[in-house]
Amino acid sequence: MNMKIDPWSALNIDDYSKLFDEFGIQPFDDMVREIENPHKFMSRKIIFGHRNYDRITDAMNNNKPFSVMSGFMPSGKIHLGHKMVMEEIIWHQQQGADAFVGIADREAHAVRGMSWERCSDIGINEYIISLIALGFEPNGHIYFQSKSEQVKDLAFELSSKANYSELSAIYGFTGETNVAHMLSAVTQSADILHPQLEEYGGPKPTVIPVGSDQDPHIRLTRGLGHKMNMFKIEGREDKKGNHYLSIRSKAAPEEALKEIAERIPGQTKLFEGHVDVLDATDFDTLMKIVQDVELEFGGYAFVPPSSTYHRFMSGLQGGKMSSSVPESYISLTEDPKGAGKKVKRAKTGGRMTLEEQKKLGGEPEKCSVYEMFLFHLVDDDEELAQIYTECRDGTRMCGHCKALAAERTEKFLKEHQELREVAKDRLDEYGL
Ligand code: SF4
Repeated sequence: MNMKIDPWSALNIDDYSKLFDEFGIQPFDDMVREIENPHKFMSRKIIFGHRNYDRITDAMNNNKPFSVMSGFMPSGKIHLGHKMVMEEIIWHQQQGADAFVGIADREAHAVRGMSWERCSDIGINEYIISLIALGFEPNGHIYFQSKSEQVKDLAFELSSKANYSELSAIYGFTGETNVAHMLSAVTQSADILHPQLEEYGGPKPTVIPVGSDQDPHIRLTRGLGHKMNMFKIEGREDKKGNHYLSIRSKAAPEEALKEIAERIPGQTKLFEGHVDVLDATDFDTLMKIVQDVELEFGGYAFVPPSSTYHRFMSGLQGGKMSSSVPESYISLTEDPKGAGKKVKRAKTGGRMTLEEQKKLGGEPEKCSVYEMFLFHLVDDDEELAQIYTECRDGTRMCGHCKALAAERTEKFLKEHQELREVAKDRLDEYGL
């Protein structure tokens, strides 16, 4: 049988094309070429889109400072979906990022009504322990929103730039929504921006690995970061066709603009409320000068956060994974044998009879067992391609596949749970 081998084809990113067209998310394909050893989620197109990831590749390839940040709401069991985000954070940490992980207990308290004790218990015993077991290094930062003064203060400052209409358009808030819920939305923006505060080394590119449904938070935060910055920089062309950059501010004192005009090498012109820079070529140096002056004059300077978007695994029974349906997902803390049994009951892309399977081949694109291999259980690309091809040409049977997936799931969970036991004794290394 002649067929195209594309082991990634289970990932139909057409489903996400709306995000590209409507919201300006860029395809990740071009970025992969810029990365020396991309994570398997990148090379397998599980991460399919990004905003401004070019800033991150530039930082990684040129040894410039950058951060990675993501958060988890402590609302229930840690599952394979959380593991994906944790792996993305840890990979960026290994590439040199200053890594931040926030436990969104303020959100869980405000939105789910959970007690602080329960937030703390789930935050540590489900999420943080697995994060450490997966390889998060102690030079990163793990914090609870409710205990971070920087995040709480920044959330308050950001809330002065966010209004009800904007938040309600994004989150569907109504007149009944309590104020803590609104504040927890702005707190997420503070989570995202706080790695750029002076105490963490100042403005720098920061990547937020998220699922594709999280883009509204990213858009809100990019907008808020922009509004917080003391200066706006715009490219202009005058009547004679000269190109220049205009650095503008309504709020900055005139001395700050004067400082910028003096420090920027080359030709600058100082006006009331703005400085024009002619023929600016070294944009990095110019940005650094502007950011330094912003900070020196008590303002904020944020580089708009970058983001990556991954697609989701489907539930083991098909459809969506749901935390209220334990059969639909694998938790990292559940009994390995029970998890193996779930995998054996999972929906496959197999045919009704063995004869049909041999004749027509299976459909890995519709198979949740294949997804388990693709996302989590097979690191070797050649092995994955072999599973895909054998499935498609009808030489592989679902029973064999399920047994293999169940065995690997059990093995992974057993090993992970042993590593969790070690991680429990290492919490103090992380300041917890
Ligand atoms: Fe899925 Fe394997 Fe069956 Fe193919 S043979 S449909 S990959 S379980």
